[in-house]
Amino acid sequence: MSNNKTSSSENSDIKPVSHFIRHIIDNDMKQNKNNGKLVTRFPPEPNGYLHIGHAKSICLNFGLALDYQGICNLRFDDTNPEKEDKEYIDSIKDDVKWLGFSWSEEPKYASDYFAQLYGYAIELIKQGKAYVCSLTPEQAREYRGSLTQAGKNSPHRDQTVEQNLDLFERMKQGEFGEGERVLRAKIDMASPNINLRDPIIYRIRKIEHHQTGNEWCIYPMYDYTHCVSDAIEGITHSLCTLEFEDHRPLYDWFLDQLQTPSHPQQIEFARLNLNYTITSKRKLKQLVDDKHVNGWDDPRLPTISGLRRRGYTSASIREFCDRIGVTKVDGMVDMSTLEFCIREDLEHTAPRAMCVINPLRVVIESIAEDLVEDLSAPRHPKDESMGRRSLKMTRVIVIDQSDFEEAPPPKYRRLTIGSEVRLRNSYVIKCESVVKNEQGEVIELRCIHDADTLGKKPEGRKVKGVIHWVSEQYSVPAEVRLYDRLFSVENPEEAAKKHEEDESHFLDFLNPDSLTTMVNARAEMSLADGQSGDSFQFEREGYFTVDSDSDSDSDSGHLVFNRTVGLRDSWAKIEKKN
Ligand code: ATP
Ligand code: MG
Repeated sequence: MSNNKTSSSENSDIKPVSHFIRHIIDNDMKQNKNNGKLVTRFPPEPNGYLHIGHAKSICLNFGLALDYQGICNLRFDDTNPEKEDKEYIDSIKDDVKWLGFSWSEEPKYASDYFAQLYGYAIELIKQGKAYVCSLTPEQAREYRGSLTQAGKNSPHRDQTVEQNLDLFERMKQGEFGEGERVLRAKIDMASPNINLRDPIIYRIRKIEHHQTGNEWCIYPMYDYTHCVSDAIEGITHSLCTLEFEDHRPLYDWFLDQLQTPSHPQQIEFARLNLNYTITSKRKLKQLVDDKHVNGWDDPRLPTISGLRRRGYTSASIREFCDRIGVTKVDGMVDMSTLEFCIREDLEHTAPRAMCVINPLRVVIESIAEDLVEDLSAPRHPKDESMGRRSLKMTRVIVIDQSDFEEAPPPKYRRLTIGSEVRLRNSYVIKCESVVKNEQGEVIELRCIHDADTLGKKPEGRKVKGVIHWVSEQYSVPAEVRLYDRLFSVENPEEAAKKHEEDESHFLDFLNPDSLTTMVNARAEMSLADGQSGDSFQFEREGYFTVDSDSDSDSDSGHLVFNRTVGLRDSWAKIEKKN
């Protein structure tokens, strides 16, 4: 029953939304640039799980390849062994596949090119365009200058090619300690673009690499690695986020100096920012490591695995990425846009069911104690092909506590003493009296039913309210996890900046009520065999997905549901409540 559509070709009759990158590609195609081929890549660093921002990049890169009959590579940008891990590589592959895309051939790794990158570095040294520098990191910072002040040349800048070749070889042989030497490009210490002030190409890291083991103790820097890897793979359009705009001159500089097989075009687009959450791998990692959430797939996180566990479908995430479009303007996308997309998807695909999240016992005194009446209801109001489900009507049922008020506000449409309400898919009942505990709390309702109201309106009166219910006996216990915004402010990173320089201030804005666990819920029998990942609409409550913590096979049948999203914009609902 999963809603995992896997190919965007199912929607091939729908014309893709155009944007400036498509215009560039269309133009290139017209001019037969790159022989009319399109090759893109998605280049994650395996230092965390992918998030919704990455989904935007994935949908863009893989989506373009599909639409232009091109190819898209999955390439791990693995130049920081100390932060990277196999676990991340596996999760990234899973997430890309789950989103419905396939990469060309085997996944690629920047580390596959370490030998070539090394060769090109020797080439740069021989051209007199790279040198080994032994300034300490502090000195290097001082020499670099600032936005308003030109940098100074390193005293090692004018070493001979032979000296540099020798030093670089000794760096590679492990003769120097970490930080003692770096290889730098020789560009321009006075450039207004700080990225061009003799950037580092190689640094020493005496650490094992997840792909290359202990083969290397020098590792190439991102800016150098990325453009060369793109060129080796014959990427035609190298799409990245706007913060790399200032790096583009460096991207082009390296490729201009080197005899690489191709010179891809870097194009920048705006990254996705979503409100009330964060899309920074480093900060997500902090939330996970410091146990503010329960792992990378915590349903509150905007990670792909979190969204998936929460009940988001891959189709809804692809639809979201289509809707937000691709531009050059940084902005903030409203979480309700993402929620809209999943609601729209599940509205059509999720079977309906009743689950009472916060039960209140109701005894219908007009029904005999041993009576069990079989009722049924459609699984979907608009899709008969989904069939029907059976419900059992009994003397004792439960309704949600929020559907009864002893002292109701005006125009209250749910149950109150002396009033009638329709039980969804069942009879009209009337509350006659209540039972209270010692604290004066209502713990049970005493009702009667109108036996002539099954599938028809009551005689001579109108009953406006409809509430959901389940039989106390013929229902299964469930745990329901209700999620709210992870942060209580729209832009936690911005809010944190106002405080101090301290990077972890964003934690101050975590919403303490982002998870509410309801342990006494009762679900109708049709939910009993729900498998992890199955989605349902709980009538009147929202869309819910069976969590992977569920154990429907065991005798105790511990069922856990995640609220994916409410039926309407939950934010608007909360504002009304207050
Ligand atoms: P983060 O800042 O979360 O660590 P990153 O850019 O360092 O992200 P990478 O693994 O390098 O993470 O990202 C892989 C690709 O995904 C890059 O091309 C990057 O530009 C893109 N990407 C990352 N975050 C976003 C985002 N929020 N919106 C769009 N694309 C993104
Ligand atoms: Mg990055």
